[in-house]
Amino acid sequence: MTLRFRNTLGGALEEFVPLDPALVRIYSCGPTVYAPAHVGNFRSFLFADLLRRYLAWHGYPVKWVMNITDVDDKIIRDAVRQGMPIGELTASHEAAFLEDLRRLRMMTPDVLPRATAHIEEMVALIETLLEKGHAYRTDDGSIFFRIASWPAYGRLARLDPSQLRVGERVEADDYGKDDVRDFALWKGPKPGEPSWRTRIGEGRPGWHIECSAMSMKELGPSFDLHTGGIDLVFPHHEDEMAQSEAATGRPFVRTWLHCAHLQMGGQKMAKREGNIERPAEVYERGFSPRALRYALLAAHYRAPLEFSDETLVAAAAAVERLSTFLAALDAYREGRPDDPTMPALLDATRAAFSAALDDDLSISPALAALFDFAREVNRRLDARALSTADAVRVAAFVRDLDRVLAVAEEDAAELPTDLSTLLEERAAARAARDWATADRLRDELAARGIAVEDTRDGQRWRRAAEVEHAGR
Ligand SMILES: [Zn+2]
Repeated sequence: MTLRFRNTLGGALEEFVPLDPALVRIYSCGPTVYAPAHVGNFRSFLFADLLRRYLAWHGYPVKWVMNITDVDDKIIRDAVRQGMPIGELTASHEAAFLEDLRRLRMMTPDVLPRATAHIEEMVALIETLLEKGHAYRTDDGSIFFRIASWPAYGRLARLDPSQLRVGERVEADDYGKDDVRDFALWKGPKPGEPSWRTRIGEGRPGWHIECSAMSMKELGPSFDLHTGGIDLVFPHHEDEMAQSEAATGRPFVRTWLHCAHLQMGGQKMAKREGNIERPAEVYERGFSPRALRYALLAAHYRAPLEFSDETLVAAAAAVERLSTFLAALDAYREGRPDDPTMPALLDATRAAFSAALDDDLSISPALAALFDFAREVNRRLDARALSTADAVRVAAFVRDLDRVLAVAEEDAAELPTDLSTLLEERAAARAARDWATADRLRDELAARGIAVEDTRDGQRWRRAAEVEHAGR
């Protein structure tokens, strides 16, 4: 079975063929750091994490970029309201976002570029668009993209260009442009707003140009995959595609993937609707980060998902079943010959898991394959029909599938704080290539009953008792 994705561009299910098999390049629209992210935002980020993990599990080297939007209308509005510089407002929300990301076991993107650190790249891109006649200036120093200059406009969202931009957020950008459909690349300076003095004049970037500049800087003019929530298709991604392709003359993105909304009480979860819940609030109600991760991942990314207590209770039960299954395997001892049918069962389960995810990341049949397998193996454990070595192999197999899901293993957050602090310090020492400190912390953790191993997915820990059993 080959890996296939439903490409928003064109709408077809397409075989995934990397532009460069040596490095699959992914860009995900990240958070706008003006408020803490809510679980609806994290549905979209976790979908990108699933994609990234699955490609890695498939053996593809991946470069994953997720931007941090740290200047835009909402940030400026809230900073003014709270009487602080925008950098102060965004720094605290960015730190909170990274902490949420860690607790939800998202892999850290390879690059997390900030918009305010890429003004030069945006200016260069806008200069190119001006030179090529795709952009124009207005009296107040703003610069707009001229949609009439780009006949392909509307291709991603499959919209008729003549029908575009009725009633969406153009008002705030409207500084006397030639055509109501045109969008701002650069916004002229206004009193009380942050601005940059640049070769194209003083002002600040529009939101869309930020993503084009940062993605192409990190991934080149053409890259494989671009993800985001469904509400970003238009205008954000349509505008990104138009301005990028108009500037480079090359196809911007091979495959666009969009995640459906998370709903609560039958409505899209959105700050504007007032029906949001943040990860920390979910944990306060007694659900673990693992359960939240599972709840957000367990529905297909293109299907709307209703977020409720029932969803979380079911997710908590599922991750508990997996933990119990692993604990039972780790503890199992039986001096008898290996089960001769086990290799075929492992192969069939792996094939079903992988065939499901190959089909546009169809998660439900993948999870069904895993839980059916757990049920069957539990039956054999109860019947004492497996050898100790069988149990060790099955546990390793489940942990391998969990490289994609990241829900089965216990969480460092479930450890006493001093131990999780030691783990964090060791991860930091490794990242800084301070091997002496990393080794010392490994010994210290071992003395406290926590065994640490280094894998290609980073540092992994287990309670020493489990390691001892698994190794026997
Ligand atoms: Zn974006």
